[in-house]
Formats: sequence, C-alpha cells, structure tokens
Amino acid sequence: MSLSIHPSVDRGPSKGADGFAGGTLRCHCSKRPVEVKVDSQVLFNHACGCTKCWKPEGAVFSVVGVVPRDKLTVWANGEKLKVVDDKAVIQRYACTACGTHLFGRIENKDHAFFGLDFIHTELSKDDGWEGPGFAAFVSSIIESGTPPSKMDEVRATLRAKGLEPFDALNPPLMDALATQTAKLKGTYREA
Ligand SMILES: [Zn+2]
Ligand SMILES: [Zn+2]
Repeated sequence: MSLSIHPSVDRGPSKGADGFAGGTLRCHCSKRPVEVKVDSQVLFNHACGCTKCWKPEGAVFSVVGVVPRDKLTVWANGEKLKVVDDKAVIQRYACTACGTHLFGRIENKDHAFFGLDFIHTELSKDDGWEGPGFAAFVSSIIESGTPPSKMDEVRATLRAKGLEPFDALNPPLMDALATQTAKLKGTYREA
C-alpha cells in the first residue's frame, strides 16, 4: 500500500495541455459557490507541506501554484470571501461558509513573488492544468502530525511520483527570493 500524499499526486501528476488558458475555481459550497476565473495556465505548481496552505480532507500535502494576479478575477459570490490571516505574507482568501481557500495574494510590493496569486487547481473542473512538479516544505508535515519516522517513506513516495522533495522551496524559487533580498540590500550583482 502506498502512502497518500494528495489526490492529484496519488493518481500521478497530470501534464498540462498545450495552449490551456485557464478555468474557473469553485469553493465547496453546494449553494452560491464562490467562483474565481483564472485566465492563465498555472506556474510552479507543487505539493506543499506547510501548515498554512489549504488542503482537502485527509491530504498530507496541499497542491498549490501561481498565476499572474491580473489574470485572476473574483467572478461570483465574492462577498463570502475573507482573509484567513491578515498578518501572513500571503493573504489567503477563504470562503467563510465552507472554509476552502480560493486564492492567496501578496500585497508587499518588495516581495519576490509580488504580482503572483496562489491557487489550488483542484478547485477547477477544467482539464489541462499543469500538475505538481516538485514538493516544497516537506519536513513541515511533521508539524501537522506526521510521525518523523514516516519521512523516509514520504520522500520516497514523492520521488516515485516524480516530485523531488525539498524542505524549503525548490532551487529556482529559493534563488528568486535571495535575488530579491540582495536587490533590497544593494548586494545584487548581475555576473
Ligand atoms: Zn464555500
Ligand atoms: Zn504551503
């Protein structure tokens, strides 16, 4: 029996469809669901083990990726949305009725990821989203109750699904964060 990571990882991450231009995310409410329209393929989609990202019932990881914020529109029933923690770097907008996180937004213009919104493509029924390509903050699942003794098995399962496990973000994203820090400190050098 293999370990369950997240439904979209367990069944084998999907390859994005060529020319796919986005879809509609919906919360889990059966009446008046919040709808968010996304006019972009998802970028840097990944499994995330942190304790803040929204995950479906029973999943150990969330699956989260980004889209340019100008490609995201709250389409219907947006009055049900509320920011989960307004002190967090990422302002996660959740449905106040069902608790689903529809999108996360960074308002700090100095942040490396400013201009990108975080989304969960599993909230969309549209086919063609790029599946998760790596796993971030893997060690953090211990904080939400995974026994440390399970971690070898978790990492082996992620690798078997083609998701390289990292305990922070992957190298390109960590480099992007450090580049922005260097620019703010004035220590950035082109070559
Ligand atoms: Zn809802
Ligand atoms: Zn996360």
